[in-house]
Amino acid sequence: MRIDLHTHSARSDGTCTPRELVTLAAGAGLDVVALTDHDTAAGWAEAGAAADELGVGLVRGMEISCLHEGRGVHLLAYLPDPTYPPLDEALTAILEGRDRRMPRVCAALRELGIPIREADVERQSASATSTGRPHIADALVAMGVVADRDEAFERYLKPGRPGYVPRYAPPVTEMLGLVRAAGGVAVLAHPWGRTDTAAFLGPGLAALRDLGLAGLEVDHEDHDPAQRRALRGLAAELDLAVTGSSDFHGAGKVGHDLGCNTTAPDQLARLLDLAAAASRASGRPTPPPP
Ligand code: AMP
Ligand code: ZN
Ligand code: FE
Ligand code: FE
Repeated sequence: MRIDLHTHSARSDGTCTPRELVTLAAGAGLDVVALTDHDTAAGWAEAGAAADELGVGLVRGMEISCLHEGRGVHLLAYLPDPTYPPLDEALTAILEGRDRRMPRVCAALRELGIPIREADVERQSASATSTGRPHIADALVAMGVVADRDEAFERYLKPGRPGYVPRYAPPVTEMLGLVRAAGGVAVLAHPWGRTDTAAFLGPGLAALRDLGLAGLEVDHEDHDPAQRRALRGLAAELDLAVTGSSDFHGAGKVGHDLGCNTTAPDQLARLLDLAAAASRASGRPTPPPP
């Protein structure tokens, strides 16, 4: 069984349609793939139809942008009911924050002499429900300002660079409760990737587990082998599930090929059991499991 629990389609900042993504997953020999676009379930229906046709198991998920102790963190939510009104409202607030940020980033880039217009970004994000910095990066690539997304982040878009504009995100402590109340199960995405790790050492993770966190995404390209060993140890100590995934973004992120990291079947089974229990407790219908 090959299981990849974190991928993005062009409904957020990936470059494949949901159908193409599932087709590529089948071609890569995956038995199960999770579609986890940023802050939206917009790709689930198309991915679900393709998964049924191709015999791939689809885990319906999303990667929710949150804040914790002043830092951005990503929460992978699997099988929540996206129509649960408090979750729907929270996701809408995040998407509105994304939409409000985009013109401000364009204005900041114009200050630097780059003649970027909102329409340039909108051409890149035409099929996305969730607009992100990668679409702004794509517009900069199309204008010939940078060679690729990485260069756009390095020069302009990451924190500390002149095109960086913060956006709204809800506290992760609140989101953990919402995901469970929506009948889903939550895993912390790349806990030690890119940002500083202080909030996610043992005590911080134990506190999040007590609020409903079910697992850690240990096997992710942002973690080196020593970090993976340490995180695996923490997961065992705290009785958290361990996942592995590609964080595939199509052509938008190099070195994140489908299936480059995978999740053990018993860990997926554990997450699905927790989602089923959350769904029974909340009365929210869980979307079809894989
Ligand atoms: P946003 O959702 O607008 O905050 O943008 C975050 C997204 O940008 C994440 O999905 C990352 O995968 C992507 N990202 C962050 N840094 C880079 C980078 N250096 N190159 C390409 N994509 C990146
Ligand atoms: Zn992304
Ligand atoms: Fe992420
Ligand atoms: Fe991601």
